[in-house]
Amino acid sequence: RETTDLDTPERAQALWQKDKDHFIHPFTDFSRFGTHGCDIITESEGIHVQDAQGNRFIDGIAGLWCVNVGHGRREIGEAMAEQATRMAYFSTFNNLSNVPATLLADKLADLAPAHLNHVFYSCGGSAANDATVRLVHYYFNRLGKPSKKRIISRNNAYHGTTYMAASLTGIASNNWDFDTLDHLVTYLSEANCYRRPEGMSESAYCDHLVQEFEDTIARLGADNIAAFIAEPIMGAGGVLVAPEGYLRRMQAVCRKHDILLIADEVVTAFGRLGHFFASEAVFGVQPDIINCAKGLSSGYAPLGATLISDDMYEVLSRPQGPGGVLSTGFTYSGHPVSCAAALKNIEIMERERICDNVLEVGPYLEERLATLSRHATVGDVRGSHFMMCLENVADKTTRALLPVEARVGDRVADEAQARGLIIRPVGHLNIISPPLIWTREVVDQVVDILDQALSATTDGLRADGYL
Ligand code: PMP
Repeated sequence: RETTDLDTPERAQALWQKDKDHFIHPFTDFSRFGTHGCDIITESEGIHVQDAQGNRFIDGIAGLWCVNVGHGRREIGEAMAEQATRMAYFSTFNNLSNVPATLLADKLADLAPAHLNHVFYSCGGSAANDATVRLVHYYFNRLGKPSKKRIISRNNAYHGTTYMAASLTGIASNNWDFDTLDHLVTYLSEANCYRRPEGMSESAYCDHLVQEFEDTIARLGADNIAAFIAEPIMGAGGVLVAPEGYLRRMQAVCRKHDILLIADEVVTAFGRLGHFFASEAVFGVQPDIINCAKGLSSGYAPLGATLISDDMYEVLSRPQGPGGVLSTGFTYSGHPVSCAAALKNIEIMERERICDNVLEVGPYLEERLATLSRHATVGDVRGSHFMMCLENVADKTTRALLPVEARVGDRVADEAQARGLIIRPVGHLNIISPPLIWTREVVDQVVDILDQALSATTDGLRADGYL
């Protein structure tokens, strides 16, 4: 391909400098950034990406859990270009609409559990969660239950970084030195089977978590609680798979106390667990609301969607108050180009039976990654299908962590990257969330690289006196 800014090492260096000088990167460690700067990714195709120096990597994180159909899909680009040249943008406020947004809403209603037939669009996952809380509050206000405001979330949950979504997020380090809307959110314990209390069976642990929810409701009063929000499998918080039956039992508690269940499927929807939506198909629950983003458009364009139940929609759509309208929404709600990308993305997923690939290759990925637990630092290998995680520890028996300064997650990721694979470090964890088109052969290649990366990491930690 033709390159412009990057066709000589000097130009690549100049670009790198501009990035370092002017681009405030999200979730970036400035001390490391100051010395390393960034790897600038310039090309992508299938399961691979390439940086400005021409190094090629297997993408082990699907961009950021989102490029589900893989990179370089011309059809999606063409669908976007066609829409952008035909009608790039027009408002969807005040009874205006566009063709892709309408067709996509219809398609989502088709793919989602039967009772979810109404779609509210946003620009990503945080905005979807934020809009959801506003809609939930509005819903209870309209029902004459204005005290129902509090949202129950969980420690280590990740729901985004708008003010509300960050407040729902229970990863302590994410909110360090930031403020949160504490009057609106209460956190339960996360469901962490690996670190559950010593000697407790998984089913007793499940009882314990459900009881904590009941106790919290008793303490706060059901009249003050609007909703419980949960990722069906916690993602950024460490790919935590809850004990069997957990979500079903949490849903039953919600129903008993007139508390809405919000499933944050920003990661789990669109095939990552082998289904378009995981809540019902995998976990047997029927949330009142499902939020999705990321894989909805495979990251080709920013898009989020909140899928709302018929019952809730009936209340939201009742004749409005003084303004006469449901006064919430974004300039880019139902953006035609993003919706065109999503429609093409879904068409590809269906045509290529991508969910079936995940159902077939996913268990193999789980099985092969599990072999890495032979390494001294790998305390846990967990996850489901194309949503996996390694938990690195200092001591496998006690599950004690290495000191933060050991930067074990970064070490493993760096060693993997040096061998041609990008995975994601999150503290002491490494997350693997590939494009959904990985084959068994790719899995074998990836596990070989990780095997070497983990050996090198162990050697490095020993050399530096951490082990
Ligand atoms: N919810 C979950 C479960 C997520 O994983 C993320 C992003 N990683 C978000 C919400 C936020 O989405 P976005 O970054 O698109 O705002």
